[in-house]
Amino acid sequence: MKKNIQVFNNVLELVGNTPLIKLNKITSSFKGNYFAKVEAFNPGHSSKDRIALYIIEEAERKGILKPGNTIVETTSGNTGFSIAMVSIIKGYKCILAVSSKSSPDKIDMLKSMGAQVYVCPAHVKADDPRSYYEVAKRLHEETDGSVYINQYFNDLNIDAHYLSTGPEIWKQTEGKITHLVACSGTGGTISGIGKYLKEQNPDIKIIGVDAYGSVLKKYHETHEFDEKEIYPYRIEGLGKNLIPTATNFDVIDEFVKVTDEESAHTAREIAKTEGLFVGYTSGAAMQAIKQLNEDETFTEDSYVVVIFPDHGSRYMSKIYSDTWMNDQGFLDSLHEKEENTQSIQYIK
Ligand code: PMP
Repeated sequence: MKKNIQVFNNVLELVGNTPLIKLNKITSSFKGNYFAKVEAFNPGHSSKDRIALYIIEEAERKGILKPGNTIVETTSGNTGFSIAMVSIIKGYKCILAVSSKSSPDKIDMLKSMGAQVYVCPAHVKADDPRSYYEVAKRLHEETDGSVYINQYFNDLNIDAHYLSTGPEIWKQTEGKITHLVACSGTGGTISGIGKYLKEQNPDIKIIGVDAYGSVLKKYHETHEFDEKEIYPYRIEGLGKNLIPTATNFDVIDEFVKVTDEESAHTAREIAKTEGLFVGYTSGAAMQAIKQLNEDETFTEDSYVVVIFPDHGSRYMSKIYSDTWMNDQGFLDSLHEKEENTQSIQYIK
């Protein structure tokens, strides 16, 4: 058993250097080799620790952020958690504008980490004054000495992954990686890793995962921002109703769209087959791999790395709740419901 017995000065020293874990069962019938970069091993349990720490330390280096200042951000939850964690260690106040689509678990976690949280309606246009983008902007303007992280429009979001996640994957695969599959929200993860990997080997395919109800795939293919693509969907942190400048569309070869239902089932399947308790977008990314496999994208020589962005504990009241799954109509067509009710037995 490999254990790290090192002692750390604070929790921030544990950000990054997450494990790459071979997928042994869920892809067993697919051609090629599959590995997951499991970002839940970050101390804040998601990939967003990397950008929170990097962007805040860059602001400190530039003298923009001074002790006692306030950090403001829009977040589906994970970035907020990471910013709150960094703020505690470094002594900043933290204000977060969160979408009402975020799970109650995530919102409670932000409060528990000392952040002041504003919950904003999810299904309004990005330029609506009630949207979490506009609320964050206003709070930033109203709060003296505040810094707005602005992850959707901040190039440092890309740089954080270009400087850490990309090189880690290249090293961990000893340069053998042939495909990267990653969800795109702000686009920082896929753009930063993609840029680094393409610089090492331009033949590596960078595949983005998008949601039905999001504009990213169509924009990538046509350069058209098509409002007709936008409609409500359930997966948090994936896809967008605007075009973030933190997405470098040039390094992405293609986008694959996935459904809420299949992504939810695939996340549950990852837990049960690989013992990795991962979040909704990890299910989405794995679902994209299943679809790509059906399209015969992979060969025996493929060396596929998939990003699992966060931990399943953030979705206990959603994809890991049979009640929620049932309410969405997601259990109707499957035997899974029967299986799950049988797995809890009450002894009286
Ligand atoms: N998965 C989850 C759970 C997220 O919160 C995010 C960020 N919105 C992503 C995936 C996508 O990462 P990125 O913003 O770097 O594109």
